[in-house]
Amino acid sequence: MAENKTFKRYTITSALPYANGPLHIGHLAGVYVPADIFVRYLRLKGEDVVFIGGSDEHGVPITIKARQQGVTPQQIVDKYHGMIKKSFEEFGISFDIYSRTSNPIHHETASEFFTTLYDKGEFIEKTSLQYYDEATQHFLADRYITGTCPHCHFDKAYGDQCENCGTSLSPDDLINPVSVLSGNIPVKKETKHWYLPLDKYEPWLREWILEGHKDDWKTNVYGQCKSWIDQGLQPRAVTRDLDWGVKVPLPEAQDKVLYVWFDAPIGYISATREWAEKAGKDWKLYWKDKETRLIHFIGKDNIVFHCIIFPAMLKHEGSYILPDNVPAFEFMNLENDKISTSRNWAVWLHEYLEEFPGKQDVLRYVLCANGPETKDNDFTWKDFQSRNNSELLAIFGNFVNRTLVLTHKYFEGKVPAIEELNDYDKSVLAEIKEFPMRIGVSLDTFRFREALNELMNLARLGNKYLTDSEPWKVFKTDEARVRTILNISLQICANLAVLSKPFLPFTSAKLTAMLNMPEFTWKDAGNAGLLKDGQQLNRPELLFERIEDGVIEAQIQKLLETKKSNQQNTINVKPAKENVTYDDFSKLDIRVATVLEAEKVPKTDKLLKLKIDTGIDQRIVISGIAGKYKPEDLIGKKICMIVNLAPRNIRGTESKGMILSAEDANGNLCTIMPSEDFHNGSEIK
Ligand SMILES: [Zn+2]
Repeated sequence: MAENKTFKRYTITSALPYANGPLHIGHLAGVYVPADIFVRYLRLKGEDVVFIGGSDEHGVPITIKARQQGVTPQQIVDKYHGMIKKSFEEFGISFDIYSRTSNPIHHETASEFFTTLYDKGEFIEKTSLQYYDEATQHFLADRYITGTCPHCHFDKAYGDQCENCGTSLSPDDLINPVSVLSGNIPVKKETKHWYLPLDKYEPWLREWILEGHKDDWKTNVYGQCKSWIDQGLQPRAVTRDLDWGVKVPLPEAQDKVLYVWFDAPIGYISATREWAEKAGKDWKLYWKDKETRLIHFIGKDNIVFHCIIFPAMLKHEGSYILPDNVPAFEFMNLENDKISTSRNWAVWLHEYLEEFPGKQDVLRYVLCANGPETKDNDFTWKDFQSRNNSELLAIFGNFVNRTLVLTHKYFEGKVPAIEELNDYDKSVLAEIKEFPMRIGVSLDTFRFREALNELMNLARLGNKYLTDSEPWKVFKTDEARVRTILNISLQICANLAVLSKPFLPFTSAKLTAMLNMPEFTWKDAGNAGLLKDGQQLNRPELLFERIEDGVIEAQIQKLLETKKSNQQNTINVKPAKENVTYDDFSKLDIRVATVLEAEKVPKTDKLLKLKIDTGIDQRIVISGIAGKYKPEDLIGKKICMIVNLAPRNIRGTESKGMILSAEDANGNLCTIMPSEDFHNGSEIK
């Protein structure tokens, strides 16, 4: 449909990254590089376009992180919003505005949106029982409740998931739930919330998506929407009990906020308002005019929100346009493993910028050439190196550099005039004309990999033409011929400078400066007269440089170390044992004691025979800690021991009690010693 319609202007949004961590390559590959390519292309075509980005700064994970670090949620989002914004700027993601949902204009916009739906009677009100912490007087979000997992008996499972066995949970599944806020057992209390009746919107969604966008939405997007709708949509809570977020604008809901899934996409509208105020534009045209084309760039985890829920909100609010397309990408993996923030399995953008200064375009290129457009794809450092060395450097960079160096060598850096055209020249000139259309068709249909490959085909064409024509051999005998060859080669360079701008903006700028040419538009491209005869070129500098094996090996090594430390952190911790009652625990009599004498038990490696002052008596204990401690290490030391463990005969000696030690999964031991010099016989409880 979009291809047949013409639009007056474009509103392009890109998913709002969640402000509780830095950005990695998966973010760039799945959302921001394609969105930026598309927007830059539209701008080059002279379209009226606004490109919207911003940080999503509400929700429970941010409040949890703040609690863990002993700071406020605002401090968390300030830190990461700053980091994220900087990474985008450095990678040339050319937002017209990069805003944030903690801004007052967003709170205002989201409140208004809620109020309109509320006044129209769209919401359903429902009262439900939820866990409540009486000590702190808070309703508890799922993440604020921990307890024992019913599947693996891990005792620190969250109300939404057990991180030990990975099972999704609801707070009611937890055995012995406890409030994270106070450590108390939570009670169930009634609370009222407002719900968006997605079930009621189902017939409309079915028609709008499954009929209306059958042909123009990507198959991965359409398929996911169909499966959601076919499963049957349920009403979805719009509000929640939390004190971080956009306050629900109702007198009876002073302690509630809008659910983050509801307020975050409204952030696109708030950001547009903020931009329009500064730019002196009318924001309403970009959101309410039927001649505006709205496109959401997102990752596949966001499809349901941008294709079903947000359009339903826009439609029933009544005054907004709907997205015309949602070209969602799949996920980028890293070296055959899912990117994971918690496992630090990622290439972080701020680290890349430090380790590969000036190479933003190389990453943009690799992430687009190998982009997860229709299926999950894999980023590997070997592929990164090979795409740089054998594509960007060997084809694009090499062609441009040879052309400019030869022009300086033979013609003092002035564009030579075409003399006479042979058939080869004519066919090359004819082909140059085709590229803006070929690249454009791919971009119009969100086939970014194909578009980038077409751009490289132009560089390939130039490289082959120059190599075949051998101006360095011809110059001695036929200078006129060399003028023609270099003019055509330079025109290809000029076209590369224009057509590469959406994909490789830093390279395009460098090349434009080297060619000393004005900023041309997409319409100018395809023309073999962009550079005028006699025009003075600037000195060539290298567009790309070789990336050596050592650099790549260092990156691979860094990932291997991450993998190693992840294995130590995860595999080695055993799940918790089943709960015991306090009565069970209090049967154990644990005391502070002092080691008086120590000697090895003959013919054993692990056993020490210890004489111990328990404060109650002096007694002999056999302990398996000789692998870690020599007898002399322990004499005079305070330890902790169970004094009422039934005596056992070990190697012919009666051992009365047990010394407490910690042991990790690799068998390393550490005997527990009180951190202060405490009286023998003091009870440990
Ligand atoms: Zn579990």
